[in-house]
Amino acid sequence: MTQPSAAPVHAHPAGGIPKTRELPRSASCRGSSYRPPAGALPSLVFDADKQSFTAPGGEETAGLVQQMDRPLSVTFQLTRDCNFSCAYCSEPPGITTRTYPEVLAMLDKLAGMRRIILSGGEPMRYTHFWDVLEYCQPRFEQVVLSTNASMITRDGAARLRELVDYIDITVDGPRGPHDRIRGNYDMVIRGLRRVAEEGIPLSVICVYMGSNKRKIHYICQTGDIFDAKKVKILTTIPKGYSRNLFEDFTTGEELNELERFLKTERQACGWRPRITIADWIKIGAGHAILIEPDGRTVASPVWQKPDCIDPFADLHAQTVQQVWACYPYKGAHLDKYLERTMVVLD
Ligand code: SF4
Repeated sequence: MTQPSAAPVHAHPAGGIPKTRELPRSASCRGSSYRPPAGALPSLVFDADKQSFTAPGGEETAGLVQQMDRPLSVTFQLTRDCNFSCAYCSEPPGITTRTYPEVLAMLDKLAGMRRIILSGGEPMRYTHFWDVLEYCQPRFEQVVLSTNASMITRDGAARLRELVDYIDITVDGPRGPHDRIRGNYDMVIRGLRRVAEEGIPLSVICVYMGSNKRKIHYICQTGDIFDAKKVKILTTIPKGYSRNLFEDFTTGEELNELERFLKTERQACGWRPRITIADWIKIGAGHAILIEPDGRTVASPVWQKPDCIDPFADLHAQTVQQVWACYPYKGAHLDKYLERTMVVLD
């Protein structure tokens, strides 16, 4: 599930507040025996309420990079297969997943890393999705699912509660705009509601485009209704199908104006989720490391490269230390995941 990755809320045909079972809300529902090894920056803390890493000692990025022998976080694409066809999809079909033993071997190489984000395509379409989730349990501190939510059944949501730390779901507006951009509004909201009813921490993501930029208020309200920890507003990346959406790319003063508007509205409306706005120009090139289904490892977004990605390694053929050693964007990676280059409203 991707555009940079993302999905929504409040599906009710009647627009009411979803019935949410009263479950104890912990930082994470998942118990993990994970202990970070030396090269995985154990000095950083993952703040589950903020859904972000923090450096309690306030260490500078360059010093932290020096201590690392592997990424802080990667997005691992289990499949490029997807049951949606979003207008802005940055990760369309066309790459074949390696065999199941090869996928497990790549997960073994990443073991010890702080966070893995299982993505796609739609990761729940992957044949061995549940086995992979189980396999990740002792290997990563944070196991995150980025899904379009359409395949989350009630039983599946209960199972996810034990296996993931949080879930990212994209909602691109109320039914009309959402369906024009993404489709399947009711399926997405149904999945979102099931996640919320299980008390699984979640984030609502929105890809900010010309066709929904006047609906951002709705997205934030949706995040609040479903008790999201975060509402993440992303802008388009000229990659995959988004190459056709150049006119939707936004930066600079328009995002500054959005920040001022949402700051005022967050307070006036009493929204509880933190709101982040990703301005790719401020974040800088290559912050995200994507492991594609065949193991090719790319940095994204990198504007000056074809398809906005920089393929710099191959996890299938290399160790994670080798991958990290040749990664050219280490500072941007750390800064992004420490929220040092994000606009944050909290
Ligand atoms: S088509 Fe699928 S993978 Fe692409 S953005 Fe939509 S849900 Fe995500």
